[in-house]
Amino acid sequence: MGQSATLTIKEACGELRRQGRQVFDFGLGQSPFPVPTRVVEALRLAAPEKDYLPVEGLWALREAVAGFHRQQDQLDAHADRVLIGPGSKELMFLLQLVFYGEIILRTPCWVSYAPQAQIIGRRINFIHTSFDSKWKVTAEQLMRSLEIEHDDTRPRLLILNYPMNPTGHTYSVGELKELADVARKFQLIVLSDEIYGRLHHQGEHVSIARFYPERTIVSSGLSKWCGAGGWRLGTFTFPKELCWLMEAIAAVASETYTSVCAPIQYAAIQAFHGGVDLERYLWHTRRLLAALGRQCVDILQEAGIHVHPPVGAFYLFLDFSPLASDLSRRGINTGAALCSRLLEETGVALLPGEVFARSREELTARLSYVDFDGAAALAASENIPLDEPLPSDFLRRCCANVIEGIERIAQWVQRTS
Ligand code: PMP
Ligand code: GLU
Repeated sequence: MGQSATLTIKEACGELRRQGRQVFDFGLGQSPFPVPTRVVEALRLAAPEKDYLPVEGLWALREAVAGFHRQQDQLDAHADRVLIGPGSKELMFLLQLVFYGEIILRTPCWVSYAPQAQIIGRRINFIHTSFDSKWKVTAEQLMRSLEIEHDDTRPRLLILNYPMNPTGHTYSVGELKELADVARKFQLIVLSDEIYGRLHHQGEHVSIARFYPERTIVSSGLSKWCGAGGWRLGTFTFPKELCWLMEAIAAVASETYTSVCAPIQYAAIQAFHGGVDLERYLWHTRRLLAALGRQCVDILQEAGIHVHPPVGAFYLFLDFSPLASDLSRRGINTGAALCSRLLEETGVALLPGEVFARSREELTARLSYVDFDGAAALAASENIPLDEPLPSDFLRRCCANVIEGIERIAQWVQRTS
């Protein structure tokens, strides 16, 4: 195995910048916004905290996380069923490690689920979705795949992620209820990866745990809505029926990382307690991401690329198949070739569909529209009342690199045709 594609593209962009090339870094999916001031201040004050903490996490933080899910998601969450880990990525790995069963993934899916299953040797059942269904798995598709792929000796874990990486979509309440019915029928365990939940652009995220509470683990963390990916703090919230799984993960954790960095856990209490300042921060970030996503889509659609307007997170999944014959004339027949030629010829970095478990030949790529100064953009947004839309020149001023990069993709595609 090689290094994860998200980290490799970050390094490649850094190297090109060091060589003096202009780069539009739409590769790594990292929040552009700063960690909210109160949370940073809490970390400063917590710097002297030096003790190892309980493997499941600091009790006050587990209480804050449970309160957060009770309030925001109407979940029946309790502190003793919350597990704190060094990023939700690590918790997902440990879950797959202790879970003797098969993993069900829709594609395109986040880069690390499948490699994690492969490292551990778990069998994966991929459900491939299409542009026309907004890359969402339907209850019917799920049902069909469960009926065909049947092995009674192994339990099954369905990983759902919404708002979705890499597509920026989410499931409606109706779709979640239908998926929950199928999950219940087949007694699936669901890992509901809601790391982008608070980044639903209208603040309307709904968890499948509301409809299938008894076997859903909700995954969240600080990385996206709180802009703190590098702090490495993720959370799993379990139903009482799955406490045995939490205990198994905690046992492995106790023999590996011991506990998450103490000062980070103390600071995270502030983040999960929430408050008016954090709500304002979220309102501004969502308004900005929604407007920017919309603007990017308008430009890309105009150029003939298939892409849906996003409803959450900061990703677009581009389908260049309408331009396949033009691209083929230029010798571009795979997603990887598309991305490397685009980077070479325009400085725009995208990740090819194949790293999201799509086929090599498919002309798809993920675009993370995060290459801008989030602190400056937030400060500018704060001068505009929240009930007003951002003025028309705002994005060009505050997210210039994103708009320019998107325009370069459009020009490059038109040059192709
Ligand atoms: N799930 C998804 C869909 C992601 O995009 C990421 C990337 N940060 C993660 C999980 C892992 O997040 P973290 O380990 O930072 O909590
Ligand atoms: N989740 C981010 C992405 O999809 C990057 C961080 C990571 O992979 O751990 O690009």
